[in-house]
Amino acid sequence: MYSKIIGIAFFSIILLVINPDSDSYAQESSESKLFDEANELFTNGQYGQAIMIYDRILEKFPNNSQTLKLKGIANSNLGNHQESLKQFFVVLQNNSDDVLALTGMGVGFGNLGEYHEAKYYFDTAIEKKPDSIVIKNYKEFVDKVISKYPYTPTEKPGNADIKPNIPDWIKSIARWWSENKVQDEEFVNALEFLIQNKIIQIELVYEDGSKRSEIPFWVKQNAGWWAEEKIEDSDFVAGIQYMMENQIIQIQISDSIKINQKDQEFLDFEKYLREITNNINDEKRYIEYPNPSADVIKKFLRDYNRWNFEEEVSKGGMNFPDPDYEVFDSEYHILYKVFVNEQPSGLPLDHVSTLEDSFEFWKNTNVTLNNRQANIEFEIIREKHEANVWVTWVVRDLGQGVLGHANFGKGIVEVTLGDYNCDGSFQLYDVSTVQKIMTHELGHSIGLPHVTDPDNIMYQSMSPKYAYCLIE
Ligand SMILES: [Zn+2]
Repeated sequence: MYSKIIGIAFFSIILLVINPDSDSYAQESSESKLFDEANELFTNGQYGQAIMIYDRILEKFPNNSQTLKLKGIANSNLGNHQESLKQFFVVLQNNSDDVLALTGMGVGFGNLGEYHEAKYYFDTAIEKKPDSIVIKNYKEFVDKVISKYPYTPTEKPGNADIKPNIPDWIKSIARWWSENKVQDEEFVNALEFLIQNKIIQIELVYEDGSKRSEIPFWVKQNAGWWAEEKIEDSDFVAGIQYMMENQIIQIQISDSIKINQKDQEFLDFEKYLREITNNINDEKRYIEYPNPSADVIKKFLRDYNRWNFEEEVSKGGMNFPDPDYEVFDSEYHILYKVFVNEQPSGLPLDHVSTLEDSFEFWKNTNVTLNNRQANIEFEIIREKHEANVWVTWVVRDLGQGVLGHANFGKGIVEVTLGDYNCDGSFQLYDVSTVQKIMTHELGHSIGLPHVTDPDNIMYQSMSPKYAYCLIE
């Protein structure tokens, strides 16, 4: 009988954790209703239907970052990695600091097998959020896989070092301008021509219409040197960039040009994704997915009976022997023999050593049983029938709020490895979560009840953290 079950309940934290942006559609009740509808489908793992609704929102608000990010995650969970990457790319076009989108890009490139590009995004994301366990896990993955499977990265379109063809008349104007022979306006017109025709790449600055200040001498000198080809285009561009940022010159770039530039970047990005896919197919590159959760659950469900003791327990396996104990110096010395079930294969996090840490915890904690001080020790053994405690690993279904079960005093300890409550797909917990669950359930198995202090390991509830879920 599986009677004296003591579980830990937790509160589901699902989508509430995404920081709400100040997005325009939030005021529009019909869009925010649609958004809620889509998110409910999303959290149930019905990604296809959720995406259809996200697309309706994006028709009206194409840059809405929250919608784009959820659509990106939904596509990623469906295995549509290119589609996923495109959503995160658009988010980053509008806000290059978005950590979720940066991490999403890393995951997407990792799923495609373009690990160096994945590494770039994970490195950038961890710089912005150094405490994130999720990004750290991904970064470790990508560092490992790069050293394990060397390959040649796919070249990015537009990155080729093409010498721009600058018309002669422009260099002439630059020279005359440097010699004060033409007005600033004429020089600015020439610059506009260069920018609009993408002959030089300048980051666009938004002008606020404040007054001009003096043109520094070095900028004019640079223009002259550039006209005489004494300095590189990049030095010349740096001078122009400086003047634009400091409102010294104002170059009118029509909004359509700005939009075109983003569109062009997006087209280049799509081309890059196609080239990656072609390369990987040609090379038959080995792909190792950055998030192992999906693999673990697949294998787990296939071998379901191996991980669950239910059947054995119902066959009368509850005759667990009592642990050996001695009393000296009026203290208990109790030795628990523990049988540990094999871990699901593909599990990247070593929870057997986590278990050792839980053993250490109880060994070093003052435990009182029957009003006596008790010293608890654990020993892992291989014979099931001699064990006082069996440890087994389980996973939970969507919405199930129990993190572990344990019999009281001896018997079975069930430790949950992950659940579906983060983003509607199975997600593994991080090591610290599994260790907390394990320590708590072992506490029950040595006879400890729940306590009211929320900081105590024997408190009845906790919020699990995930190892790879993008929604933290
Ligand atoms: Zn409990």
